[in-house]
Amino acid sequence: MQSSYSHSDSRRGSSSGHSSVHGAAGRTSAGHTSFGPRTPHPAQRHERHSPQGGRNPASRGGGARAKQFIHPSRFIQEAKTVEKAEYVPVNAFEDFAVHKKILDNVRLKGFLKPSPIQDQTIPLVLQGKDVVGIANTGTGKTAAFAIPMLHDLITNMDHRAIIMAPTRELAEQILQECFTFGKGCGLRSALLIGGASMHLQKRDLRYNPRIVVGTPGRIQDHVRQGTLLLPFFNFAVLDEVDRMLDMGFINDIGDILSKISKDRQSLFFSATMEPKIEKLIQKFSRDPVTVSVKEGATVDNVSQNVVYYSGSNDKMDKLHDLLIGAECSKTIIFDDTKRAVERLGRELNARGFKVDEIHGDKSQAQRSRAIKRLKADEINILVATDVAARGIDVSDITHVINYSTPNTYDDYCHRIGRTARAGKSGIALTFLPR
Ligand code: ADP
Ligand code: MG
Repeated sequence: MQSSYSHSDSRRGSSSGHSSVHGAAGRTSAGHTSFGPRTPHPAQRHERHSPQGGRNPASRGGGARAKQFIHPSRFIQEAKTVEKAEYVPVNAFEDFAVHKKILDNVRLKGFLKPSPIQDQTIPLVLQGKDVVGIANTGTGKTAAFAIPMLHDLITNMDHRAIIMAPTRELAEQILQECFTFGKGCGLRSALLIGGASMHLQKRDLRYNPRIVVGTPGRIQDHVRQGTLLLPFFNFAVLDEVDRMLDMGFINDIGDILSKISKDRQSLFFSATMEPKIEKLIQKFSRDPVTVSVKEGATVDNVSQNVVYYSGSNDKMDKLHDLLIGAECSKTIIFDDTKRAVERLGRELNARGFKVDEIHGDKSQAQRSRAIKRLKADEINILVATDVAARGIDVSDITHVINYSTPNTYDDYCHRIGRTARAGKSGIALTFLPR
């Protein structure tokens, strides 16, 4: 745990403490119906390149779309964890008919019992069914597909799996989880994401990997160049389907799925279910079984509040006060644009905080390194555009700070879903102008 920062107190004089954080009954009524003063300069409103290499305009880190008005009261909510009865799984991990090596790896990872989505989907996937899994973020969907998928690959030497995810980080994270659970099973893999060397990916593909994880755009690049032969894949996983559709990947996904072996098993995981997703699933699956273990809003176990500020100096001071608070031990701060993120990161660094930044203009290596550093406690503050809000799982995030308001309520939920993961508690604070 690190709560002490070795910096001299260089901030401008400020009202100390957390007096700016109001209780749930706080000031939500008048005076905040406009975010006008906060509108950034037009030049700052766009992240020029998409994190996936320019193919999905909706994913441009947050600046590209006009902001929806979100009533401040929606940023205030007490956590509701206490009311939840503890889920009693029907199965123990040992009950699943999966290869012993995988079970050993699950135990080594420290998973004691299956989460609800794992408990209910793993048996179905093992039976060979197409499955649609709907569950809140942070409830273990990755292992829900990775465990039975790995078993399938170990037991059927001619099977190959392809996993699609909306962002590079998520794809990397999924592959990491596959390594963890598939350790010692000899399964080759390839990670096909934008911003990384095509050449090295082609080399990995020449070894006929049994597992391919990637973002739809880069997967398509390889398909077009003839370096990835989809008909040889007979196990397909789509993770965060809702995000992928939001990001404009629907055509790529349809194209990819139509080229994968017809004789395949397909899994779809998502935090939400919308008509668009249903249509996609209908078209590309066989008699799918839907398992939905959503309970309440994804964000119900995050304690949410707002921080009012007047002017940019006061805003920075309030942020500084929060960050030196003992309980703020691992924080993600969201800001609108790449430039805003850079600027804030520099300012916090100058103030002695251990901070790194991620946004769409950073190289993939820099983005991965920032997340690794956060996981390893080398830094405890990550400043990010919305690219970081999608599917990143860093445990022990105590605070999510919206230094700028999100574009939509949906973006808000994804941002604050980075905390309070796996049953832990978390705090989300949204800065609003007075
Ligand atoms: P989701 O994809 O639903 O957002 P993840 O698969 O990223 O969730 O899992 C969230 C966190 O919960 C991860 O840190 C993961 O290691 C942990 N986790 C998943 N399943 C279990 C389990 N059965 N027991 C303990 N921790 C788990
Ligand atoms: Mg996930």
